[in-house]
Parts: sequence; C-alpha cells; structure tokens
Amino acid sequence: METMFNVLVEHFKDMENTSKRTELTSILAQLFNSISVDEIDKVVYLTQGKLYPDYMGIELGVAEKTIVKAISKYSGITEGKIMDEYRKTGDLGDAVGNIVKGKRQMSFFSERLTVNRVYSTLDRIARSSGKGSQEIKLSYLLSLLNDAEPDEARYIVKMVLGTLRLGVADYTVLDALAFARSGTKNSREILERAYNLSGDLGLVAATLMKEGEDAVKRIGITIGRPVRPMLAERVPDIKGALEYMENGCTAEYKYDGERVQIHKRGKNVMLFSRRLENITMHYPDIVKISLKSIEVDEAIVEGEAVAVDQNTGEFFPFQELMHRRRKYGIKEAMDLYPVTLFLFDVMLVDGEQLIDLPLTERRKILWKSVKSDEKVQFATHIETKEADKLEVFMDQAITDGCEGLMLKDNSSTYRAGARGFSWIKLKRDYQGELGDTLDLVVVGAFYGRGRRAGAYGTLLTAVYDPDNDLFYTVSKVGAGLTDQDLASFPKLLDPYRIPHRHARVSSNLEADAWFEPVIVIEVQAQEITLSPVHTAAFNSVKVGAGLALRFPRFTGKVRNDKGPEDATTVKELIEMYGNQKKKPMISGTGP
Ligand code: ATP
Repeated sequence: METMFNVLVEHFKDMENTSKRTELTSILAQLFNSISVDEIDKVVYLTQGKLYPDYMGIELGVAEKTIVKAISKYSGITEGKIMDEYRKTGDLGDAVGNIVKGKRQMSFFSERLTVNRVYSTLDRIARSSGKGSQEIKLSYLLSLLNDAEPDEARYIVKMVLGTLRLGVADYTVLDALAFARSGTKNSREILERAYNLSGDLGLVAATLMKEGEDAVKRIGITIGRPVRPMLAERVPDIKGALEYMENGCTAEYKYDGERVQIHKRGKNVMLFSRRLENITMHYPDIVKISLKSIEVDEAIVEGEAVAVDQNTGEFFPFQELMHRRRKYGIKEAMDLYPVTLFLFDVMLVDGEQLIDLPLTERRKILWKSVKSDEKVQFATHIETKEADKLEVFMDQAITDGCEGLMLKDNSSTYRAGARGFSWIKLKRDYQGELGDTLDLVVVGAFYGRGRRAGAYGTLLTAVYDPDNDLFYTVSKVGAGLTDQDLASFPKLLDPYRIPHRHARVSSNLEADAWFEPVIVIEVQAQEITLSPVHTAAFNSVKVGAGLALRFPRFTGKVRNDKGPEDATTVKELIEMYGNQKKKPMISGTGP
C-alpha cells in the first residue's frame, strides 16, 4: 500500500510544533509505523531533508529564482508579491503556505500526492543537470505543486530549497527506529553499530524493518560507504593520558588538516570527510596519489590531508585548506594549496574488514599496502610509555607545525563512531589557558557598537548535549574577531537566520539575531567558570549555576568539517572544568 504524502506532512507539522526531544522521537516512531516498509528508507532521508545519505553527494540544485517562478505559476500570484511574503516570513516554504492558504481550490483533475511520487519527482529534479536543466527542474516542481494541498506545497518547497529542518538528528532516527520496531530501545546498540559502519541511516532502517535485527547485525564495511570515524578523548596532561594506555602506547603527530577517508577499488577512488560527505571532487590530487600509492586492489585507509606551502615546505594552517572546499576553481585552489597526505589507519583491505584487529596489526597492514613518497606519508610516530620522551616528541610535533600528539593504545580496535580513551589527543598547553580549544555552535549574535556597528560584533555560542539533543549556551564570543571576520560572518550566518530562538537551543539571553544551530567555530578560553547566566551544564556542577568561559577568543577557525552535533559536548565541558581544577591556575593573565 502506498502512503499518501499528506501522512508525512501531518507528522512533520507535529515534529515542528514540539520542543521536547522525547516527543519528537515518538512522533517519528509513529510515522515509521504508519508507512509501508518499502518506503522506510525514503521517509528517513526525506525527514532529514535529503534524498540520499550525504556521502552520495546528490543535491537538488534548484535555483531560488526557479522556485519563485514555480510558486508564482502554481498560485497565480506575482513573483514580486511572493518575494514580499518571503521577506516577511524568512522562508519561502512558509511564504507559499501563507499565500495559498484558503485561496486555492484543488482542481478536479488533481491526483493526491503519494510519498513515492514526491520522492521520485525530487529525485528526477536532482538528477537533471547541465544546460536547460533549470527549465526541466521547474516543470517537475510545478507538476508536484499543481497536485499539492497548501501544507504539502509548504514542505515540498522547503525540501527543494534545503530549508526543511525538523531537528531530527541521526540519533533521534536510531532511537525512533528501535522504538518503532519493538516498542523498546533494546536494539538501539545494534542499529548504531550498523550505522557507524555503513554511514547510511536509510539502509539500516530498511534492513531492520524488512529483515529484522539479525540482518542489521550483518551490515559491515563496504567500499563506497563511509565508516563513521573513531574519535579521541582529551586528557589534560601526558601522565594522565598514559594511565589509559594499558597495553603499550603509540604517539603520533596530530596534524592540523582535514581528515580524509579514502576508498579505493581498482581504478576508482572516493574520498569522504569527517562528516561523511563525499569530497572526491575537491581533491583530485588525493585521488591521483591514492591510485599511485595504494598498492592493493581494494582498500579503505584514513589520514589527514595537510596543505603544504610549496615555497617553504611548511604546513599551511587548517583555514587555508578550507579554500579547497569550493565548488568552482578547484584547479586554481589545488595549485595554491597542494596537499600531502599523512596516513594513520586502515579499515579494509581486499574484502577483509580489519577494524577488530589491534592498532599495531592494522599499522603493519597499512604500511604493507601503501607505498609512501613525498605526497603520501605515514603519520610520524614513536612507541613509548615514558612521559619524558613524549614531552620531547610533543615539542618536536609543534615545531614541525602540528597541533600536538595523538596517543593511541597499541591493542585498541577501530571503534567506528565512538569517542573513547583508547585515542587521546594532547594539544599545546597555552600558558594560563585551557589545554584544549572548544568547538562551539553559533546560536545567536549581538550587534556591535562603535567600529563594529551594524556587524555581528559578538556571537552567542553553545555546547551540545547528545542525551537530549539540545544546544546550551556557554559563552558570548567577541574577542579574536578580525575585521575580515566581521565582514564575512553575515554571509556565513545569514542563511541560517531565524526570527526567534531555535527550538533546540536553551538560552537565558535574548540575542539580537538568532540562528539555526549549524555553524561551528573554534574558541580558546582561559578558564571555565560557574555562571548564573549560561545554561550549559546547569545544576550539574553546582545547583543554580551553569558553566561559562572566561576570556573566550575566536581562534580564526570556522570548523566547516564539523556538524553541530560534532561540537564540544556538555559532558566534555564538565570534564574540562574538572581537569582544570587539578592544575594550579595562573592568575593575572587576562587578555
Ligand atoms: P579536533 O577538534 O581536535 O580536530 P575532532 O573532534 O575532529 O578533534 P578528535 O578525534 O577529537 O576529532 O581528534 C582527532 C582529530 O585529529 C581527527 O579527527 C583527525 O582529523 C586529526 N588527526 C590528525 N592527526 C591524527 C592522527 N595521527 N591520528 C588520528 N587523528 C588525527
């Protein structure tokens, strides 16, 4: 039985109207149970505003102009009037909902929309490219709108524009799936493992609903589907870190570039980012050097791509590498910022999954499978448990332009998608400052005064709590913003501007501008302090207080490689607060 699109729309409306994560999960579980199992993967993607998992890199690519034209033809209202309503609501989807509400009669000939029809038409829109494609996209879009009720049109426009954001994070989908299938969260871990290895929520959902849990357990690593990366914990000092290295310790340079997962089969290479996006087109040079250096037929290897200054041989900072993430002018960017690859792990070789082998075994296989040269190297490492040696190695890493060290337990397996203590990151300890930076989500801003008048002079930033899928404010950040940042931030943030605080943001402060939690920036602070104002970790360390940053400063890094759910978590913030208390504080070193 085919599901009517309207069923999806009714659930979407309920999801938009709730501000409780538990309710969101149960509405989603209800939705999963109201559709046929053949549609489950499509519904999972649509709910997250996508047609496919991110790694496929398929975008709808409809110009805003085309959408306005389609709405005008559909509603009989001029493009100018539509733009007026757009400016009022800030969202074209809502604008179309308002414009046609009550004014439009469904024609006698219209056919009610089904989920399958909406999905397949959107898929055709995504797949038409090249000259004249906007015309084709327009006619497909119009064919949908002509059969749509006002609320359906509202969500179709949001999907096409990429502004459908119901706040359904990956973990919410996993919870809802477990619940939909069994009424409990028992299978949650099995589902998460499958997602960590396949990077495809639709696949996990379809396998669960069609074939059951045992089939989900059989989902493994495959070339072409990115593995969710293993992540590191932070520990304040070398001695503390060594306590976790029970079975011998490898220390590697922590390069300050972009993490890249390379999938090679025969003459084909695909590259994936830390966020599982397909970034193959941005790095033709990595594709070329992978084909040359990976000597086995099939492999999945992981490393850090670092831009190297051709004149000096020194590493460029991370921000410079982000110039490679552009749509056009890739060749020029490649010449200006050529990369060297530093490999540190391997997950699969010639059909064999290697993640359950210990690190030292994986490293041997990595070294055997890849021939290093100037452009492809293995991460510089030593094996030792002596703190003195590690301190010297840390200095060497920093002198060589790295961020610090990664300490890895020699016997550790590759735990996809998990942040754990078998990998520990040690960054340079700035005197009088926290040993590590924080990655914070920009949720709001305050207008500047004086020289900063008219600009977003101070940003309101937040940490993430995965337990309830909310963002809690932790700091206002104004220091460290250069004139260039002030000029470029509106362009970066305005696409996410919303008229009120986002439902997933907890804040006691009233910002001048609110944003959907999307953009992540790196912030260095001197200390974490108790705060009656900020909501992060409220009541956790002290009743009636949250945690905040003292002397926060933007480091200049916009973490384009991180999604909002990859930001520093409340739990990490509390750990950092606890860690700093163990160290003597240096006083009188404010900015
Ligand atoms: P960060 O904000 O410190 O980059 P992260 O959240 O991206 O951290 P973590 O696992 O916490 O990820 O830190 C490890 C990151 O450091 C990796 O994601 C990777 O991009 C980078 N890196 C650089 N060198 C190495 C290495 N030798 N081994 C593993 N990761 C490395």
